[in-house]
Amino acid sequence: MPVSPEQQAEIDDLRTQTSPTLRATVPGMEAHLYKAYDVLDHGFIRVIDYMGDDSAICQAARVSYGKGTKSVQNDEGLIRYLMRHWHSTPFEMCEIKLHVKLPVFVARQWIRHRTANVNEYSARYSILDREFYIPAPDHLNAQSVVNNQGRGGLLEGEEAARVLEILKSDSNRAYDHYEQMISVEGQDGLARELARMNLPANIYTQWYWKVDLHNLFHFLRLRADAHAQYEIRVYADAISKVVADWVPAAYGAFEDYRLGGATMSHTALDCIRRMLKGEEVTQETSGMSKGEWREFQVAIKV
Ligand SMILES: Cc1cc2nc3c(=O)[nH]c(=O)nc-3n(C[C@H](O)[C@H](O)[C@H](O)COP(=O)(O)OP(=O)(O)OC[C@H]3O[C@@H](n4cnc5c(N)ncnc54)[C@H](O)[C@@H]3O)c2cc1C
Repeated sequence: MPVSPEQQAEIDDLRTQTSPTLRATVPGMEAHLYKAYDVLDHGFIRVIDYMGDDSAICQAARVSYGKGTKSVQNDEGLIRYLMRHWHSTPFEMCEIKLHVKLPVFVARQWIRHRTANVNEYSARYSILDREFYIPAPDHLNAQSVVNNQGRGGLLEGEEAARVLEILKSDSNRAYDHYEQMISVEGQDGLARELARMNLPANIYTQWYWKVDLHNLFHFLRLRADAHAQYEIRVYADAISKVVADWVPAAYGAFEDYRLGGATMSHTALDCIRRMLKGEEVTQETSGMSKGEWREFQVAIKV
């Protein structure tokens, strides 16, 4: 269960409390504040706090004394200009703080993004819950035969059942042993900081993660991408939905220039120019490697 009834009651209670502020608030983001959005089988993301909005980006870019906004159209044009020209620091003026519950093997990929502030649940101090990520049947894939870093077709029938059984029984056995090892009343046992070492990487952890919008876009660019592992991509997708409601102009520019855009090498641009002149360019005459050519064709959707 991603959130227990007690935790949900705390969230509901928080959402009844308001306080007046002179700071900019965003109605779309206020609607998300504190709510838990389920991700995977036991995970979630929740917005705990945020600072800034689309106009804060313009305000910083113009180093304004007032709100810094002009017309909505004018602001959107400025934000698109900043995004297009990699003028990144105005985006750093917006911040978001998330509470994330995620499997440890996903956390290990996530933590590679160093430009954020993190505080993780302490398994030295607290006892971890018996919650393990077990893939849904439609995400139980075989190893890809073309990509060493990817997945192939779905496992089916007896093979899927066999693998699921191993995942479930290993997780439960490791947790049973964890419980048997830790020191509890009436049992000396092992310190929590040591007992946890036997737990598998699909157990859930939690953290608060605070990041500015520029670095969040970098995270989303890499982790909402089709090449990212499914289990982290679903978190990036859930965060993207929230960000679209928080800073719609900035998110629109990000979608256009980064998510939907492509970076072209000099050689690739030259190929496009030759194609536009009517030349039939092939991989052999393109000057690109096979891999580059494949990616180029995907980018221009040939
Ligand atoms: C599809 C995919 C596959 C991956 N596979 C692997 C893998 O097999 N093995 C592996 O180890 N990692 C892997 N990674 C992780 C990847 O190499 C990066 O570590 C991760 O994406 C974080 O990116 P980042 O360093 O740009 O982000 P951040 O740490 O958030 O940094 C953002 C930017 O800040 C700057 N920066 C931050 N810290 C420094 C610093 N100390 N010095 C200089 N500049 C800095 C850089 O410009 C950086 O791009 C993979 C990532 C993806 C998306």
